[in-house]
Amino acid sequence: MASESITSELPALLGGPVSFPPGPPDWPPRDPDIEKLFAALHESGDWGRYHGPYCERFVQRLKEFHACSHAILCCSGTAGIELALRGVNVGPGDEVIMSAFDFKSNFQNILAVGAVPVLVEIRCDDLQMDCSQLEAAVTDRTKAILASHLSGAMVDVASIREFAGSRNIAVIEDACQMHGARVRHRIAGTWGDAGVLSFGGSKLMTSGRGGVILTDRDDIAQRIRLYSFRGNDAYPLAEMQAAVLIPQLDRLAESNELRRRSVDRLVAALGHDSPLAVCKSPIIEASPSFYKVAFGYDSKMMGGLSRERFCEAMRAEGFALDPWFRSLDLVHSRKRFRTVGELANAHAADHNAVALHHPILLDPSDWPERFANALEKIRRFADDLQHA
Ligand SMILES: *Cc1c(COP(=O)(O)O)cnc(C)c1O
Repeated sequence: MASESITSELPALLGGPVSFPPGPPDWPPRDPDIEKLFAALHESGDWGRYHGPYCERFVQRLKEFHACSHAILCCSGTAGIELALRGVNVGPGDEVIMSAFDFKSNFQNILAVGAVPVLVEIRCDDLQMDCSQLEAAVTDRTKAILASHLSGAMVDVASIREFAGSRNIAVIEDACQMHGARVRHRIAGTWGDAGVLSFGGSKLMTSGRGGVILTDRDDIAQRIRLYSFRGNDAYPLAEMQAAVLIPQLDRLAESNELRRRSVDRLVAALGHDSPLAVCKSPIIEASPSFYKVAFGYDSKMMGGLSRERFCEAMRAEGFALDPWFRSLDLVHSRKRFRTVGELANAHAADHNAVALHHPILLDPSDWPERFANALEKIRRFADDLQHA
């Protein structure tokens, strides 16, 4: 329990002291290696050229790191998912199974290639696709399963791969939030027929924009290349982007380890029976990376304080905590998709899930204790906060 002097203070939102005065760290962080790279890019002129050494070098490094045969660079994770869908031949009339609680652009991408998203339930403990629902979701039009690893927990890709393989259904693994994570011996992004990483501005590896499709299948790589090369690459990643991504890949394992340790410290600081229950991967031998740390928020344990007001109060304390995804069936026209079952867990997550953004996880200071103290302050003044 925190000391009386700390917990009896007012929440920042009611005029008390801010629990973590530095606030959410900048992303990307300042980095002397990147600064040197920019100087070198300027010196060589590679910053403004179509071709140079960096994209090729980055492709090599990605292939080595993931032990896969093809790494096709592209302009975003969103474009990567679309290209992967095209690569496994998803088209008009096909169905693609995905989680009801997933990144919005995955849903839109399935529509973009003319197919129908089939939304399945999530697990209540880790918010990932509930693989026991796959059987009920399959029809003779099922072409692919789009499986995302979300918010620090990992979808059971091994089971999905086994399920899909015996039925001739393709698997696309969305690892846009899981750079360098592992399930058993395999790195995230290499479990499916194709995997996708994002290098968008908020992601664990960033060049502002960008993505890559990983695959071992020559036919998929060939189809993606035929589709995107139109005398020129229609979905390119620039030399300048590849240049800044290489050192980030080199340091990925180390930064993932730091983030995992921070999450352990945070979970310990929150203790048992916290109103914030971390969404944890039940998969054995999973070593996730943390783009977000997701929690289930228990409003009752916080004196009825709404999730939105709680997040607002935590942000005022200096922590980047926000409501997490919407359940996709609640934000799209019923005409666009099919659902399997009631989606009760997805709807509960739509209500209760919150996510902490990752940059603070590289901070070795005592922020986890401050986070837990901030929560206690807010709990004490829940009534005042709800009605202020
Ligand atoms: C960010 C993200 C994407 C899309 O990546 P962009 O590079 O932003 O287009 C896709 N899926 C998931 C799960 C993501 O988090």
